[in-house]
Amino acid sequence: METRLTEKDMETLFILRRVSSDAVMDVLGNCPVIDLKRGQILLRAGQSNQNLYLILSGKLAIFLEYPGSDPVAVLDQGETVGELSVIDDSPTTAYVVAVEDSRILEVDETAFWRMISESHAFACNMLLLLSDRMRSSNEALLKNIHLRRRFQRDAMVDSLTGMHNRRWLDLQLPRLISRHVRSERPFCIIMFDVDHFKKFNDSYGHDAGDDVLIQVAHTTLFSLRPTDLSARFGGEEFVVMLAGINIELAWIVAERLRKTIASERVVTDDGRDLPPITISLGIAESRAGDTADSLLKRADTAMYKAKETGRNRTCKEE
Ligand code: GH3
Ligand code: MG
Ligand code: MG
Repeated sequence: METRLTEKDMETLFILRRVSSDAVMDVLGNCPVIDLKRGQILLRAGQSNQNLYLILSGKLAIFLEYPGSDPVAVLDQGETVGELSVIDDSPTTAYVVAVEDSRILEVDETAFWRMISESHAFACNMLLLLSDRMRSSNEALLKNIHLRRRFQRDAMVDSLTGMHNRRWLDLQLPRLISRHVRSERPFCIIMFDVDHFKKFNDSYGHDAGDDVLIQVAHTTLFSLRPTDLSARFGGEEFVVMLAGINIELAWIVAERLRKTIASERVVTDDGRDLPPITISLGIAESRAGDTADSLLKRADTAMYKAKETGRNRTCKEE
């Protein structure tokens, strides 16, 4: 439904936008006023639009995806929408919906450009509004970048232990191997697995099992040099990467880790004392032509030898 500006609307305009020049008031006075009911759509994403809309009363919500999704902004009395389409003649990029009954002044492009050329104050107002829009879209962009970084980091971290996860390992291990092939320095991996963990879970509960995994992860992280890397391979299996040391030295590191874990008391979150657990470890050293898979496979075979020959021990690759 279209009407014209009332005296009260004129007052609102005068107060809100300081558009006091006669020329501007003259142009605005001839613009139609639209009455929108709550829920009514003013603009749709993708539609062509030649008008700027100024809110005389009520509220408009801006939706980027579809009406009813999370609004990116709710505009109030005195604010405008549609000015970007008018300025660069591009289609609307969002849905604009009345969130309450609203009165909207419709300023077409001819009126808009007339006001820009006739009123310095109106042009300044527009510039301020556009810089505001740019600033808030930069802020949204920055928030997005931070969110994306967080998602990427979360996707690489095991939520139970805080260690790097399998995805991270699949990405990093090939890089580490090729770096050490180029540098001609030795590179070893230790793969280890908690012994009889199924029985432990069955006897003390899954939560106690989780506490064990957290403790194993912490012990591993604190036992290594800052330059060594580790990851939860999956379940109760872990991988440690040792750069610059050969298999003999890696065996010493592995044995130290095995003994530390075997001697540690496990205390649950609720203060229960649990028996210590043990781990079986397998070590492999990177060779010419190794891939992440071939190196992991040899460490895995060595680890199974440790299991078969009695557990709670370290075996080197053949
Ligand atoms: P082995 O000495 O041969 O390794 O025996 P095992 O019982 O440790 O091995 P098995 O593969 O039979 O069982 C592994 C168990 O680890 C079963 C599974 O429920 C448990 N497990 C895997 N991931 C988790 C976890 O995130 N939390 C808990 N509490 N248990 C887990
Ligand atoms: Mg196990
Ligand atoms: Mg296992």
